[in-house]
Order: sequence, then C-alpha cells, then structure tokens
Amino acid sequence: MWSKKKIIDSLSPFTLLDFEQYPSCIIWFNGCNMRCDYCHNPDIVLKKGTYSFAQLIPFLKQRKNLLKGVVLSGGEATLHKEIYNICKYIKSMGFKIKLDTNGLNPQVLEKLLKDDLLDFIALDFKTSKANFFKITKNKEYEKFIESLRLLNNSKIDFEVRTTYHNSLLSKNDIKEILEVLQKYKYSKTYYIQKCLDSVPTLLNIPKNTISKEFFKQFNDKYNFEIKYRNFDY
Ligand code: SF4
Repeated sequence: MWSKKKIIDSLSPFTLLDFEQYPSCIIWFNGCNMRCDYCHNPDIVLKKGTYSFAQLIPFLKQRKNLLKGVVLSGGEATLHKEIYNICKYIKSMGFKIKLDTNGLNPQVLEKLLKDDLLDFIALDFKTSKANFFKITKNKEYEKFIESLRLLNNSKIDFEVRTTYHNSLLSKNDIKEILEVLQKYKYSKTYYIQKCLDSVPTLLNIPKNTISKEFFKQFNDKYNFEIKYRNFDY
C-alpha cells in the first residue's frame, strides 16, 4: 500500500509546544516549493529524504495511547502525493493532525478539508505581493491567497503567521499583510514571529535587529488580534 519513497527527513518524538493542548510528535517532510532566505530548515528543504512513511508506522502504533497529535511540518508536506493517504491513516489511528503549510497547494488543502482530515493549520503569510518572489523565490502568490480564502471560508481552526526579519521585511510589507487579512475577513489571531538568529538559515543573513517602537505602528484598527512570538517584549 505504501510507497518506498523516502519523503521524510526526520521525526521529533515529542512536543508540547507545537500543537496547543495536544502532546504530539512532529514529522518533518523533505522538499519545499519555496526557498526563503531565512528558512530555518535548509537541510530538510534541500536534502533527499531519510524515511518513507511506512517506516514511521511502528512508532505511531507504539505511541497511539501516549500522544494525542501529529504535526506535519517540513519542508512542505503538501508537495507529496501521499499526503492524503498519510492523513487518512493517521486520523484512522485516532490522532489529531496539525499541518504547517506555506499555502501554495490550495487544491490539496481543499481535499484534506473536505474529508475532515485536518484539525489545525498554521498558514505562513510570507510577505506582500510585490515582495513575494524576492522572499520565497516563488511567483505563486495568488495560490497562497486561494488557500487563505479557503481557510477563511471553512470551519477549520487555523492561524496565519509571518516570520519577521528586519532586513527582509519592511513596515509596509506587514501593513499590506494586515490589510489583506482584513480584506478577507480574517478573524483569528495573527502572529508575527521573530526570525531567530541562533539557528542555521538557507542563506547568510544579517542579525535580526528590531526595536520595540516597530510594533507601535500596528494599531488595533483590525478585526483580529496581533500577537508576537520569540520577541523578548
Ligand atoms: S521557510 Fe518554510 S516555506 Fe520557506 S523554504 Fe523553508 S520550509 Fe519552505
């Protein structure tokens, strides 16, 4: 039933941080259709895989009664043709599923949502339309917008988040993101997460310096809450 294709880089056996309220493991899928300069997982994006999904099944069976959730991360999990069957199998074992995605595969998302195979989605909103290619090396901004609209019109619990690095994104990029979220009636919490200096990145980028004042610019005229991650204040 399962292909022997090695599409998975590694498995983090336990996290309490990634999938709120559910003790989970994380499956890291290889490959990505973006090449973000600040990517924190360059090996996962560039390297060939180490495991097929079938090789992880014994682990999942063993942890069936100990873990509540499985996080599908990467890389970009939706790139892999097997992702539908993988989600179906994981759900049949009783796990909740969280998907981390860059939103470039709205058709895959739609299918997974239609068949109720996901419980939470973290959607990366990389940057403004004008700078999308510069940051991601991918021109398919409209596909991301399609995913955003799809999630906004669905019942799935999800969050939109942006990784912020002050030499790559500007105040105007964030403002445009906020306006787009407002336009599509986003009503959940929007997270701006600081790009960390302490981990390897795809390209060499300067230190991420940012002042408290930066955030004062984003007032509360929006219909959703804005929160910050990995910032010390
Ligand atoms: S940051 Fe995410 S979307 Fe960008 S290259 Fe890395 S894994 Fe892909």
